[in-house]
Amino acid sequence: MGKEVPQSNKDRAKLDGMYECILCTCCSTSCPSYWWNPEAYLGPAALLHAQRWIQDSRDQYTKERLEAINDEFKLSHCHNIQNCVHACPKGLNPAKQINSLKKLQLQ
Ligand code: SF4
Ligand code: SF4
Repeated sequence: MGKEVPQSNKDRAKLDGMYECILCTCCSTSCPSYWWNPEAYLGPAALLHAQRWIQDSRDQYTKERLEAINDEFKLSHCHNIQNCVHACPKGLNPAKQINSLKKLQLQ
């Protein structure tokens, strides 16, 4: 059986704006970059979810997750058009999370 892995309030707060995602994929279906390259570009729903786990202090696979999206298309094909932000029924901002992921990739 697994054991409890505690998380500080500060680390828990890093998940705000991501844990609320219901994976409806309205953001991805509204994204022009995803329309034209659905097989190469992961799209905002998947990328927001990747960031949700990358930012989780309890997760052990940050490096592997970043490597998995380190690709010419998978992450980089977001052009900041922001349709995803307007489409999200939960008021989330996938574009902001994608920009954070891009910054992490540069580090
Ligand atoms: S900001 Fe990025 S993910 Fe959002 S709609 Fe534009 S291209 Fe797609
Ligand atoms: S539209 Fe919002 S709630 Fe739906 S998958 Fe995208 S980020 Fe998650």
